[in-house]
Amino acid sequence: MTPLWLTDLPRPARLRVTPGLRSDVVVVGGGLTGLTTALLLAQNGIDVCVVEARRIGEGTTGASTAKVSLLQGVRGQRIRRRHSADALRQYLDANSAGQQWLLDYCSHAGVPVQYTDAYTYAQSDREVERVRAEHRVLAQAGLPTELSESLDVPFPARAAVRLADQAQLNPMALLAGLAAEVESHGVQIFESSRAQGVRSAKSGDFLVDTEHGPIEAGTVVLATGTPILDRGGFFARLVPQRSYLTAFRLSEPAPEGMYISAGEPTRSLRQVPDPDGDVLLVGGNGHTVGRDSDTASRVRDLVDWTQRYFTVGDPLSTWSAQDYYPTGELPQVGPILPGQDRLLVATGFAKWGLTNAVAAALALAGRITGKSPHWSGALASWRPTDATGIPAAITANGSVALQFSAGWLHVVRTGDEPAPPEGCGRVNRRLLSPTATSTVDGVTASVSAVCPHLYGIVRWNNAEQSWDCPLHGSRFAPDGTLLEGPATKPLRRLPD
Ligand SMILES: Cc1cc2nc3c(=O)[nH]c(=O)nc-3n(C[C@H](O)[C@H](O)[C@H](O)COP(=O)(O)OP(=O)(O)OC[C@H]3O[C@@H](n4cnc5c(N)ncnc54)[C@H](O)[C@@H]3O)c2cc1C
Repeated sequence: MTPLWLTDLPRPARLRVTPGLRSDVVVVGGGLTGLTTALLLAQNGIDVCVVEARRIGEGTTGASTAKVSLLQGVRGQRIRRRHSADALRQYLDANSAGQQWLLDYCSHAGVPVQYTDAYTYAQSDREVERVRAEHRVLAQAGLPTELSESLDVPFPARAAVRLADQAQLNPMALLAGLAAEVESHGVQIFESSRAQGVRSAKSGDFLVDTEHGPIEAGTVVLATGTPILDRGGFFARLVPQRSYLTAFRLSEPAPEGMYISAGEPTRSLRQVPDPDGDVLLVGGNGHTVGRDSDTASRVRDLVDWTQRYFTVGDPLSTWSAQDYYPTGELPQVGPILPGQDRLLVATGFAKWGLTNAVAAALALAGRITGKSPHWSGALASWRPTDATGIPAAITANGSVALQFSAGWLHVVRTGDEPAPPEGCGRVNRRLLSPTATSTVDGVTASVSAVCPHLYGIVRWNNAEQSWDCPLHGSRFAPDGTLLEGPATKPLRRLPD
């Protein structure tokens, strides 16, 4: 399932890491967080390089809906429920700084942006109070939101909160522009170079171990979506959420604006300008990674919904992507451990990273250059006095423990089974080995079913034809190749 943004874009191929290199700062991850951090550091004359596991754009940024908005569904009330009015204001200041930086950058670099209004709307009477609550908390925090009791759209919408003059863009055009600008400062971006660990060097520096050898670094920034190191236990404070996206050619003008529902099932809509006629993006139907037995039905449901309310044919493309929800609601940006100022992370953008990732980059670059923005406390990676996220973290980790036991129990109860039919995957026990076997494009492949991160039993994702771990969201191709998540190693290949 290829994102619309990646289908026809020429992308320059970049070199892999070669051992023996050193940089004052090594940024791991070439998404929006990593590239913006690298650019800000380079602009400050700092020696930096970027190490990307796959190719630029193959992470979440290049698969997102790419709304650049301060009205973010119902995030305002979710944050306010756990944190002070001041913390929400700082979060909005951070996002506003991220949004402004991004839009200024796009204007300077010639990345096209469409300015439009953002809406959070009620799909039913039950969601109307959430819409009102979002208006209330954001207005109290100083955003000029407006409440409307009806919307002129072809899908069911009762009421909506609106924020005027927000923006949307093509995230691949953004990443391509950023990568070129980063390189124009002499910064090297290494692709196809997965980082597998970070250790201390004798010199006092760090060694970032990649699959092609180590790079020495004075400071390391992990901009990898979810941190790839278990130090700091961020995996236990994040819930990996996968969502689905569909793109359709419209035969009528798309509704003006960007929309997201206030409740479940999520429906997120925006239009994409195209010379051959407007394209409509419809996304939603999210769930915790690895915890659904029929992900393909979530795509079908989005297609059915869109065909019910719009005059559209088959989708131009369908895809999915994942992002990480912080159990404490606020993003986590800063030292991986308290006091560890040279090993930094940025995560927990809760599917609103177009502004949060840039805010994170501003905060990280500010920390490294000694000029932290005034709002950076709202995005702190450690808040020792803040216990509000603990109950949610306990609930999230309780369900992780249940998933762990259920996976292993399932393995114990199975035995040897025949190869699964085309497009299917099955976990069973071969002698004592938990084995994940799939058949894709006529090829049957068997790999270890045990995720190398924290030993969860993977599950088949029939929409993406991948093995997904229900514990912390690591994902693997049918042949075991690591795709994303906190794992740093593939699933072990087994004989068929
Ligand atoms: C379906 C969906 C729709 C979304 N829509 C919106 C939206 O409309 N508006 C909005 O604001 N936000 C949206 N988001 C959220 C937003 O896309 C993300 O928060 C943001 O893109 C995260 O950026 P990032 O740079 O942190 O991560 P990524 O873009 O994922 O970049 C991380 C990079 O790190 C690389 N990497 C990972 N591990 C390693 C390793 N070990 N070594 C080297 N490199 C590694 C990855 O390959 C990747 O390229 C959406 C998210 C989803 C899932």
